[in-house]
Amino acid sequence: AQAALFQAQKMETVGQLTGGIAHDFNNLLTIIVNSLDLLTRNVSGPRETRLIEGAQRAAQRGAQLTQQLLAFSRRQPLQPARHNPNSLIEGFETVLRRACGELVRMSLALPSHVSAINVDGAQFEAALLNLVVNARDAMPDGGELMITVAEAMVNDKRSAIWNIPAGPYVVLTVQDTGIGMTKEVAERVFEPFFTTKEIGKGTGLGLSQVYGFITQSGGHIEVGSEPGKGTTITMLLPAHGDGQDPREEPSSETVRPARDTAGTVL
Ligand code: ADP
Repeated sequence: AQAALFQAQKMETVGQLTGGIAHDFNNLLTIIVNSLDLLTRNVSGPRETRLIEGAQRAAQRGAQLTQQLLAFSRRQPLQPARHNPNSLIEGFETVLRRACGELVRMSLALPSHVSAINVDGAQFEAALLNLVVNARDAMPDGGELMITVAEAMVNDKRSAIWNIPAGPYVVLTVQDTGIGMTKEVAERVFEPFFTTKEIGKGTGLGLSQVYGFITQSGGHIEVGSEPGKGTTITMLLPAHGDGQDPREEPSSETVRPARDTAGTVL
C-alpha cells in the first residue's frame, strides 16, 4: 500500500510538471498551425508549398504529442457520456482488428449484460487502440489478444489503496501472450516518455495517455506481466447503472444502482 501511495504521488508530480509544459506548448503550436494555414493561401512556388507542408506536418505531430501529454496530466477536457462498454468495443472492433495485423488473433469476451460507464467515447477508443498496438508490438511472431469486460465490487480496503470510491466497477482487461516485461519495466510503463522501443518506434506516451484517461474518468489501471508469458492491463471504471439501453435513457442524471449481480469482489 505504501509503494502504491508513493507511486501515485510521483505520477501526480510528474503530471503537474508535464501538464504545465504541454499546456504552454499547445498554445504555441496553435499559433504556428494557424499562421502556416494563412501562409499557404498566398504561396505560389512549389518549393515554398513543400516547405510549408513539411512545417505543417511537424506542427501537427507536435500537437499530437502535446495532446497525449495533456491527457496524461489530466488537463484534457473530456466529454463524458453514458455508454455501454460492450457497444463501444464492438463499434470499434474493425479498427482494432486491423491494428492487430495478420499474425495476432484477437478475441472479445463480453458479458450479455453489463453496467453503463460514463466516459469520453473517443478517448476510450484511443486508449483501446494504444493497448492493442502495444500488445501487437509485444507479439512480433503472433499470438493471442483477448479483450474482456466484466464487473466487480471494490471493497473499502482496495478503495483506500487505489484511491477510488468503494462500489461497483466495470472491469476491462486487455491481455496478450507476448514478450511480457520485467518488474522494473512494469513499474515505469505509465511514466511519460518511458519506452523500451527503438528511437522512432515508440514515444513512451501511449500508456501515459491511457493512465490519464482512466484516472480522470474516476477509474484505476494496473499492469500485470511476466517475461516470456504475456501482459494483462486491467482497468476499472465506475459502473453507472444498467448499461443495456444507454441511448434510450431519458436523462443522463438518472443513475440507477448497479445490478447486484456484480460478480467478483476485489
Ligand atoms: P511506447 O509504446 O511508445 O513505447 P507506451 O507508453 O505505450 O509507449 O509503453 C511503454 C513501454 O511499456 C513500452 O515501450 C514497452 O516496453 C512496455 N509495454 C507496453 N505494453 C506492453 C505489452 N503489452 N507487452 C510488453 N511490454 C509492453
